[in-house]
Amino acid sequence: MSLVYTEIMHLSASLLVGGSLSLLSGSYLPLVLSLVAGFFIDGDHLIDYLIFRGSRVTLKGFFSGNYFKESQKAYIFLHSWELAFGIVSLGLVANSSLLFYSVGLSLAVHLLIDQFTNSPGLYAYFLYHRITHKFDLKSSFPLCSP
Ligand SMILES: [Zn+2]
Repeated sequence: MSLVYTEIMHLSASLLVGGSLSLLSGSYLPLVLSLVAGFFIDGDHLIDYLIFRGSRVTLKGFFSGNYFKESQKAYIFLHSWELAFGIVSLGLVANSSLLFYSVGLSLAVHLLIDQFTNSPGLYAYFLYHRITHKFDLKSSFPLCSP
C-alpha cells in the first residue's frame, strides 16, 4: 500500500476520532490532540532514520523509508500498544479523561491501520516485543527483505 494512501487513512481516522470527541466536548483540543497522536506520530520514524544515518540525512532519504531495510532495525518507539493502553487507562482515572482518550484512541486507531497496511507480525507494535528482539526488523516485520 502506498505511503500517501496510508497517510490519508491516518489523517481521516484522526479527524474522525478527534472531530467526534470535539463535538462531544465542545472544544477543539481533542481534535488537535488526535491529529498529533494519530497522524503526526509517524514522526517517530525520524528517530529510526537519525539512529541509522547520524548526521548524513536528507529529506529524500527520510521519506524513502529505505533505512528500515538497510539498518534491519525498527525502533518506532511511539508505535506501541503499551503506550496506547497506558494513555487510555490514564483517562479512566484522570479528571480530564477526554484528553487522554483523544490521544490514546487516536494512537490505537493508527496502530490498527498500520497493522493492516504494513504487513507486520502479530506483535510488531508491542514495544516489549521489539525490545526483547533487540529491535530486529525481521522479528517484527518478517515480510521485509533487505
Ligand atoms: Zn505509523
